[in-house]
Amino acid sequence: MPFNLLVLACVAYVILLFMVAFAVERRAAAGSARWLRSPLVYTLSLSIYCTAWTFYGAVGYAARSGLEFLTIYLGPTLVFIGWWWVLRKLVRIGRQQRVTSIADLISSRYGKSNLLGVIVTVIAVVAATPYIALQLQSVTLSFEVFATAATEGWAPPDQGSTAIWVAAGLALFTILFGTRNLDANEQHTGIVTAIAVEAVVKLVALLAVGIFVVWGLAAGPADIIARINASPISDWQLQPGRWVGLTLLSAAAVMTLPRMFQVLVVENADERHLATASWAFPLYLMLMSLFVVPIAVVGLQLMPAGANPDLFVLTLPLSQGQGGLAMLAFLGGFSSATSMVIVAAIALATMVSNHIVMPVWLRLRPASAVSGDVRRIVLMARRLSIAGVLALGYAYYAVSGGSAALAAIGLISFVGVAQILPAMLGGIFWRGATKAGAALGLTLGFAVWSYALFLPSFGPDAVISARVFAEGPWGIGWLRPQALFGVQGMDPLLHALFWSLVLNATAFALGSIVTFPSPLERVQGAAFVNVFDADTTAPQGWAPGRAEPEALLVMAQRILGEEPALSLFESAARAQGKAGYLPDPTAQFIEGLELRLAGSVGAATAHAMISQLVGRATVTVEDLMAVASEAAQIKEYSTRLEAQQVEVTRTARALREANEKLTKLSVQKDAFLSQISHELRTPMTSIRAFSEIMMEGDMPQSVTAKHAGIIHDEAIRLTRLLDDLLDLSVLENGAVQLNLDLSNLSEMLDRALRAASHTRPDRTFTIERDLLAEAVFLRTDADRLVQVFINLISNARKYCDAAQPVLRISVRHKAGRVTVDFIDNGSGIANDSQALVFEKFARLTDQNRAGGAGLGLAICREVMANLGGTIAYLPGQGGAAFRVTLPLRLEKAA
Ligand code: ADP
Repeated sequence: MPFNLLVLACVAYVILLFMVAFAVERRAAAGSARWLRSPLVYTLSLSIYCTAWTFYGAVGYAARSGLEFLTIYLGPTLVFIGWWWVLRKLVRIGRQQRVTSIADLISSRYGKSNLLGVIVTVIAVVAATPYIALQLQSVTLSFEVFATAATEGWAPPDQGSTAIWVAAGLALFTILFGTRNLDANEQHTGIVTAIAVEAVVKLVALLAVGIFVVWGLAAGPADIIARINASPISDWQLQPGRWVGLTLLSAAAVMTLPRMFQVLVVENADERHLATASWAFPLYLMLMSLFVVPIAVVGLQLMPAGANPDLFVLTLPLSQGQGGLAMLAFLGGFSSATSMVIVAAIALATMVSNHIVMPVWLRLRPASAVSGDVRRIVLMARRLSIAGVLALGYAYYAVSGGSAALAAIGLISFVGVAQILPAMLGGIFWRGATKAGAALGLTLGFAVWSYALFLPSFGPDAVISARVFAEGPWGIGWLRPQALFGVQGMDPLLHALFWSLVLNATAFALGSIVTFPSPLERVQGAAFVNVFDADTTAPQGWAPGRAEPEALLVMAQRILGEEPALSLFESAARAQGKAGYLPDPTAQFIEGLELRLAGSVGAATAHAMISQLVGRATVTVEDLMAVASEAAQIKEYSTRLEAQQVEVTRTARALREANEKLTKLSVQKDAFLSQISHELRTPMTSIRAFSEIMMEGDMPQSVTAKHAGIIHDEAIRLTRLLDDLLDLSVLENGAVQLNLDLSNLSEMLDRALRAASHTRPDRTFTIERDLLAEAVFLRTDADRLVQVFINLISNARKYCDAAQPVLRISVRHKAGRVTVDFIDNGSGIANDSQALVFEKFARLTDQNRAGGAGLGLAICREVMANLGGTIAYLPGQGGAAFRVTLPLRLEKAA
């Protein structure tokens, strides 16, 4: 097998890929590449998961550790079959937020934080560098296999320069096709198609080697199974811990590897492609792993002892003189390596330029969002980053000198990128996740990974001294890199995986619970978690009208290119119903523009650039206050309505009460009238009767005189009744004329007693008085007050039923008021009647016995009210007791 033929084939293959990519790009530019955006191409592009590590390494892995290599396929299979709804959510978010990389996803989710963008970028670059070195190494090794077998042609170059050539060639290819444009969503149709071609080549190559081994070297499947049973591979002990751990690890990696995220989310053209990939990709993985064990078993049997099992795929056909097959296998391995490196370089370069170069550049030249040529800067940053990433990979390869076991390096990388998983899953399922929590978890996980796995992988005394491994740093035993917290004897990989993820997730959860998300984080969190809800285009709080549309257009042109930006603005203007190409800078338009720019330069950078022009970067506290005060206003308004409601209810009740009172008053008035007519009729009847008798004549003088006396008495009673009624009505209407003057209380009582003595003069009445206390001058209407006193005294004379009637009049004055109590020793008034006696026509005792009309106490009450005082019944005094209270000095009529 001539070596120069190999180089020629290699170059021809690369030229083919170039042509595919180039043709597709041209077709895509002409808009006729739709068929290339098929579910099949999408699924094949996912095959970058199978790198040279899987292509060559799986066989080596199987030769060393039996079926354990299957875990690397099992994890992704589980994710695609069982978790494809998670992938769908990622893809939906990626499209809606125009996510350009996994760092952009995390940054965008946590309030477009550039800090998180930087952290994820650093993790991704550090974890991917050894992986890229691994690819360079595999290509170099496979070259070497041919070189040592070569008998004629050019002398093969040494290892180092092969790696350099490969790295440089890949950088060139990636730069050419990976940084052609900055269009939205960073999709690279040409490269994706070329990678799909490579996916087919590596599958065909591996299947071809497998078929050759099973049917060419062995005698078919039955023979192979017998050979497997006889080989040490079937003796390998299955370690459950490692199986579970590695399956989980590869499941995490398939979602968090930057290159996987690139093809899975960023390059996804249609969400429905996932449905196909969910079964087709596991099928692809199954085919890739189908012949791994047979090749390993046959290789172990046929190849000389000490041959590197990592290269069986290549050396086995070569040793059997199958030059063509070996060439195919070589191209398969070459495809695996190059497709991985190309996509990884694009993904990493996007992250580095969007999250590190651009922010630094924006910070250094704050005014340049409008003035500088952003497009050129971004593209330059991408190209330099691609070259940088490959240079790093080469440097790692050169420094590490190419270690023997490929698989170990790949797994170390996996654990590194798996650190992104908690922040990613938390970000899309948990609204409470915060930027601080994510930063804390990521940093801690990354630190543990570096300390417990990555740095030790350089070997003892390379970075970490052997003493630290044995005794821990500064002799602290529980900090030994491979026995953290005293957990000893664990597989170093699982140990690091366990501690890094546990500490990472714990710090993430605790940090999120303890800290408070910023307004923008809340907005983004809601948009991510509820991405499937109808309208989740979250408001970003851009102040409308602040930005000049011209400035926005200039900036958009610098990033998107003249034509695309102009057409974007024109269509927006048309949508607003405006002529020309400048739309109003509404909040909605600015949001749309930001999303569009985010598709090119990442969410954080786009946000920063827009805020340079619009002036406001986030939802400010004032915005929230405005929303809150709006809510408060509405609340206040409703409270006021409620209060009015209460008021109305109260008014209605008052009206109802007034109405009831009026009805009652009307009833009372009717009763009053009938009472009066009754009271008037009684004396009138007797007057009429006796006067009629007298008119008949023929009566002795004595009888006439008696009848005339009755008529006279009844007339007096009538007059008194009418006087009382008149008096009452005057008092009730408040039309009383009061004659205020200073009078002696004692003298007033004397007057009242004298006047009342006409009532039942037949009874001897004892009056008890306290003359000392009575000696007080009152400013009041003396006649009216005496009227009250007369009434009370004569009532006592009338109604006191004691055998030896006694009336005690006691006086007290205090704080400007005087009380006069009239207490007799009769049987008093029953409890339930006490309030009643002050009502008009209230008569408790037999009317005939003591002929009052029941108006006396009613008049007393009115008089006292006019004098600014009160009259009340005093219960529990042994007999009837009335208390009159009035002010010492009445200033004016009440
Ligand atoms: P009248 O014109 O019948 O005296 P009043 O309003 O003065 O009307 O009295 C109302 C009722 O209160 C009387 O009919 C009587 O039954 C009761 N009353 C008033 N004073 C006394 C008293 N000192 N002892 C017992 N009952 C009394």
